[in-house]
This record gives sequence, structure tokens and C-alpha cells, in this order.
Amino acid sequence: MDFQDYQGVWVFIEEKDGAVASVSLELLGAGRKLADKRGVELAGVIIGEHIKHLSKTIFEYGADIAYVYDDPIFKNYRTESYMKALLDCSAKHKPEIILYGATSTGKDLASAVATDLPTGLTADTTELDVEEATGLLLASRPAFGGNIMATILCKKYRPQMATVRAKVMKALPPEPGREGRIVEESILLREEDIRTKVLEIVKETTKKVRIDEADIIVAGGKGLGSAEGFQLVHQLAETLGGAVGASRDVVEAGWIEHAHQIGQTGVTVTPKIYIALGISGAIQHIVGMKNSGLIIAINNDPEAPIFESCHYGIVGDAFEIVPMLIEQLSEV
Ligand code: FAD
Repeated sequence: MDFQDYQGVWVFIEEKDGAVASVSLELLGAGRKLADKRGVELAGVIIGEHIKHLSKTIFEYGADIAYVYDDPIFKNYRTESYMKALLDCSAKHKPEIILYGATSTGKDLASAVATDLPTGLTADTTELDVEEATGLLLASRPAFGGNIMATILCKKYRPQMATVRAKVMKALPPEPGREGRIVEESILLREEDIRTKVLEIVKETTKKVRIDEADIIVAGGKGLGSAEGFQLVHQLAETLGGAVGASRDVVEAGWIEHAHQIGQTGVTVTPKIYIALGISGAIQHIVGMKNSGLIIAINNDPEAPIFESCHYGIVGDAFEIVPMLIEQLSEV
């Protein structure tokens, strides 16, 4: 494989409610740095129906090129059709790096593309860098139970691919009016060649705040003792207008669904305020919340490791402290 043929950093652009998803904007910020270090162009690959207008946004956030596949067949995300478009684009333009958000779509698409291309994939990356001279992508992620950061290299193949967690990279400040090059692409796909059909899309109706988007998170741990005790987390979150998070042990106990789990095998969050109730502060939990703006911990064990990672710590029984907090906050 001649690496000289492979040039440029790409980001697979996800669309959400008619706009570019925030994770894609973050990846454009990260991709811009990699592209500048290598002296190559940054491109976004946009696949969908009526999505050409998203090019403007990605140029403002740092992309030089938009490869656009705009066709009714791409109306809804389906692994096969999106994979074929991305493989087509990759075969034509040969990128050295492709980044995807570690979202359900990004993870699904990246693994499908990796099985078809002769290349590997680093999943759930939290740090990215590139060797200036060789173009080798340095994709790092927690490994061995979160005890070390492993840097994973793809030495023999191109493109190098990684999925990257939401909220760990920073989007660049937008430059209104910044221009780029739109390359309209097409691929002949027939509906009958695609095995998946979208029959219905059921929108989530819950009004609850999602943890990956929340400014305030109240998270609870095994220290709350039971599913009934865990209601304390819901009560404080409701008082503060925040979202509910949990440790893995709580999820495993069945007190709340996995979507609320924070940490290495859950979601990475960066709220403005993170309040931990009865969470010990295992490294696997800390990696998922350590970049929060203000971390407050309530734990009855003064030796609990969470106190090493918080800005404010209260040593005491959550069942005594939290009702007082709720009372005070309700008066504000
Ligand atoms: P515990 O460790 O049991 O801590 C309970 C805490 O509550 C204690 O510190 C105790 O002092 C305190 N407490 C007890 N009663 C009260 C009270 N009345 N008031 C106040 N405090 C009280 N964990 C995650 O959270 N997220 C992950 O993504 C994750 N991924 C993992 C991946 C791997 C590969 C492995 C091996 C582990 C992973 N874990 C993860 C598990 C992690 O190691 C811990 O076991 C888990 O985070 C502990 O959960 P906890 O803090 O709720 O429970």
C-alpha cells in the first residue's frame, strides 16, 4: 500500500434535526488541528437527502471540502447505503484519516466500513494526535479498566479510522462566511439492493433532559442502597432542572437504564455542574465526568476517592444532606 496516495483528514458529518450534530462540529475542530499539522485539507462527508446546505456550516467550522451525497435513498440512516457511499468516496479520494462520532450511527457505520476496507478502527477515542512526518494517527483511549491510556496505531493500512466520544473534543469558534469547495458525488444504488427498510420513526417524547446535553447532572451511586433510595437523585435533579446520571453498579442493579451510566463503559459528560451522591469515585467513573465544570460530591466516607476529583466535597449521609438541600433550593 503506497501511503503517498492517501491525503487529507475526513470527518463523517451527522445531521440532527436539520443541522450539523454537535459531535461532528467537535470532530471538525479536532480534524482541523490534525490537518494543519500534516499540511493537508480537512473534508466533511455529508450523506442524506436535502443536506447540501450543511456544507455552509462545516466550512464555517473549519472544513475545506464537503463531499456531498444527496439522494432520496439516503433519507434515513441505513448501514448498507451509507457504508456504500462512504466506501465509494474513500475509493475515489483516498483520505489518510476518517473520524466518526462515537454515536450509535457513527459506531455502526465506522465498523461496517472497517470490515470492507483493509484497515482497522480505534473505538471510543478520547485523545487524538498525528505524527507530522509520517501521518501516523495517534488515537488514545482508556484501557485495562481505565487504569492506563492506550495509544492505538494503524501502521500498515490507510485510511486510519477512529470513533471519538462526544464532548471530549472542542469545536472551533465559527467563522461566518468562511468558504470551501463542494464536491457533489453520486453512487448508483437501487432500493431493492438494500436489505433494511425504515418502516416508521418513533420520536422520543420524554421531556427529561438528556445527560450528554445537560448543564446540570445529579448522579447517584450504590451508596444510595436501593431503587427507592435512588429516588433521591431524581428529586434533586428535578429541583435543579438537571439530568439524572448513575454509576455502573447502579445500572447493573437495575435501578436505572444504561443510557444514564456515566464512565468508561457509559457516556462521557461535561456539564457545568456535576453532583455525585453516594458514588465512590472509581477511575472508570471518573474518566466519564472529570471534565465537568464544577464537581460536588456527597459521600459518608471521608476516604472515598471521589474527594480527590471534586471541587467541593461534603462528608455525610446523602439521606440527611440532600433533603435539606432540596428544601433550601425550593425556597430560592
Ligand atoms: P461503590 O463503589 O459501592 O460506592 C458507594 C459509595 O457510596 C461509597 O464510597 C460509600 O462510602 C458511599 N455511601 C454509602 N452510603 C452512603 C450514604 N448514605 N451517603 C453518602 N454516601 C454513601 N463504573 C462506572 O460508574 N461507570 C463505568 O462506565 C464503569 N465502567 C467499568 C468498566 C470496567 C472494565 C470495570 C472493571 C469497571 C467499570 N465500572 C464503571 C465499575 C467501577 O469500577 C465501580 O465498581 C463503580 O463505579 C462503583 O459504583 P459506586 O460508586 O456506585 O459504588
